[in-house]
Amino acid sequence: MVFRGLQRYPHILERIYRSTYRILKPFQRWLSPDSRIESLLVRLEKISKGALFDCRMCGQCVLHSTGMTCPMTCPKNLRNGPCGGVLPDGSCEILPDKPCIWVQAWERSQRMPMYGKEIIHIQAPLNHSLQETSSWVNDLHLKEKMAPRGWDL
Ligand code: SF4
Repeated sequence: MVFRGLQRYPHILERIYRSTYRILKPFQRWLSPDSRIESLLVRLEKISKGALFDCRMCGQCVLHSTGMTCPMTCPKNLRNGPCGGVLPDGSCEILPDKPCIWVQAWERSQRMPMYGKEIIHIQAPLNHSLQETSSWVNDLHLKEKMAPRGWDL
């Protein structure tokens, strides 16, 4: 997987993340949920983030807060840090031939000058109704629906 190798450069990926948001922000009016453009963006997001991050299209992207490592690839779907079963060599207890994604997230976040510190933020519970929607569009429109008041997204 050539594209996955880019995760070794989280400092570059966080810049791309920030640029994507800045590029889309002026078009917020036209990028409404359930619009035709959203369905195009869903496809684009699936292809690009699928190749780069093994994205599972949760619709509530927290990549910048998790070392540009997708927490939904954790076999337990943990979004707030590792379970108690990380093996001594940093492998996953469910998939021992793979590294714990939270060990990777922590290491990568240390190399992210812009968003690295966000790894200590507590993530809101997942809103499953946003599955298979565009997190780019949701990020612009639906923050209030993604978490109860007071949660930091
Ligand atoms: S956090 Fe959600 S939107 Fe972001 S890469 Fe993972 S599954 Fe995809």
